[in-house]
Amino acid sequence: MRAMAFARTGGIEVLEPLDLPVPPIATDDVLIRVSACGLNHLDLWVRQGLPQSLRFPHVGGCEAVGRVADIGSGVHGLEIGQAVLVAPGQGCGRCAACARGDDPACREYIIPGEHAPGGFAEFTRAPARHVIPLSDAWSLDQWAATPLTFLTAFSMVHRHGRVAPGDDVLVQAGASGVGSAAIQIAKLAGARVFTTVSTDLKARLARELGADVVVNSQHENFAEVVKDQTQGRGVDLVIEHVGQAVWKDSLKCLAHGGRLVTCGATTGPQVALDLRFFFIREIEVIGAFMGRRGELLQVLKLLDRKLLRPVVDRTFPLAELARAQQYLESRQQLGKVVVVVE
Ligand SMILES: [Zn+2]
Repeated sequence: MRAMAFARTGGIEVLEPLDLPVPPIATDDVLIRVSACGLNHLDLWVRQGLPQSLRFPHVGGCEAVGRVADIGSGVHGLEIGQAVLVAPGQGCGRCAACARGDDPACREYIIPGEHAPGGFAEFTRAPARHVIPLSDAWSLDQWAATPLTFLTAFSMVHRHGRVAPGDDVLVQAGASGVGSAAIQIAKLAGARVFTTVSTDLKARLARELGADVVVNSQHENFAEVVKDQTQGRGVDLVIEHVGQAVWKDSLKCLAHGGRLVTCGATTGPQVALDLRFFFIREIEVIGAFMGRRGELLQVLKLLDRKLLRPVVDRTFPLAELARAQQYLESRQQLGKVVVVVE
């Protein structure tokens, strides 16, 4: 099968087209002919090298959608040709964490594309319990822009952020994958949504997605705008994945008792915290990693009912994965970048 893979970690040059064997399937597995796969910053980090070891050649891609091509003899309820997505986080299904529904805490939790071969190939395999049927509410290219991104944003806004109707919510980087999902999710929950962008095109997208106050960080300081628009009170919740560059001002935006939820650090991981401010204002800083299986099913239902929508900026053919990753790295994108495999 055609795949874009790498035999060693490094820069964009390590990505190469390879002809790899179609993955064999076990009794409980499903083989999926990949139609499209969304891109995430995680793909860049995995390619550049994370602490854990990879099995080379490694196929990345955490948001694979496609059609069932083959099923193991023990699989029921799925049909050849059916449109499906591969769950972006996969617990073992047996341990205490999985049993209480907290699969991201599973010691065997894997993200396909990071810990196992992902969707940047003609075929991928997954255990049947992690293969989720899709409706025709959206095209497969559009569905590919959703699983990891909306799962993460949904758990950040709801479980970690405990959003309530009428809350003021600041979403950092509103035109990013997580940002464009979080704006919609917070808005749907009845919040007033503030967001930051860096270009006029991104500002337009953020408004289309429902943001109430859009700050172009090139021209304005978002902390000042937030203070001004909330009469000095600040926001109840900050949804954050930018890291270092916005950390200090993000904290400054929080109202008394406010929560900052973070799932990433695209501009750098090292930040400072003034403990006096932290305890006097009774703020919470909360780490978020992926989301639970139940949250994935819930957010997919909202997408299915078109209460939320995938935001696809550009698609690239699989052979141009390197260009697609460079485009993501350049941070010009309006929503998600998707690689189309067939
Ligand atoms: Zn488990």
